[in-house]
Amino acid sequence: MMNEGCAAARRLYHEFGLRGPQDFSVEELINARNIFYSEKPLAHADGRIVPRGSRVMIILNSDIPYAGRRRFTQAHELGHFELRHYLKGTPEDTALTLDYYQHGNQEYEANQFATELLMPGDLFREFVKDKPFSPDLLRTAADYFQTSITSVTFRYLEQGPHPLYLFYSRNGNLLYFKQSPGYWLKVKDLTRLSVPTDSVAMEYYRDGTIYSREESAQEIVKSTWFETQGWDDRHLFYEFAIVTKAYDTVLSVVWSP
Ligand SMILES: [Zn+2]
Repeated sequence: MMNEGCAAARRLYHEFGLRGPQDFSVEELINARNIFYSEKPLAHADGRIVPRGSRVMIILNSDIPYAGRRRFTQAHELGHFELRHYLKGTPEDTALTLDYYQHGNQEYEANQFATELLMPGDLFREFVKDKPFSPDLLRTAADYFQTSITSVTFRYLEQGPHPLYLFYSRNGNLLYFKQSPGYWLKVKDLTRLSVPTDSVAMEYYRDGTIYSREESAQEIVKSTWFETQGWDDRHLFYEFAIVTKAYDTVLSVVWSP
């Protein structure tokens, strides 16, 4: 079933006669909606939407270093507008609300809106089909769809052919995990605990290690993140750690070859 956010993005495509995400800048859509738009440094948020008299203003944190993350944040804030969330308060968006798919219904919907607007399901499935999974595939898709690698990763989790687990941690503690539909492994009991000592995420928290592009798929073993039964402890898995230094978060992408 199509969720509200996704349906609102489809409506926008229809209303403006858009064919694909290369047809527009999100700022153009924001202007078309008669929304004030500004950019300035925000201490603890990537973006925010606030009432301004009879109109609405979207503010983007001008310090966001990546074009893809800027575009995803703009689309997320536009989603709050399209879904009329601003009438119920003033969402303030941090790395957590932008990445965390189950952080309240409004955030989920705004993320689904941004996801469908920037990476329409049919175009995304076509793009990743028949391509082997790798960190470079995620980077290539992020470039192609002009969005953040984090948002591409969540999109791939839902719609890509290769099964994945995602582990999201902050300051060394695991906040949540999520897996591809129909994929199930028993995850160690880690929620709200430190990430595993032998994980790539922990290498970052402990030593500040960030691997180069060529080395970003690091070999780990199944027992790093999952419960095992002895015979499968050393089964090969890979972990790609997507680090956001400003928020001290790591999104660990874990897969079996
Ligand atoms: Zn939000």
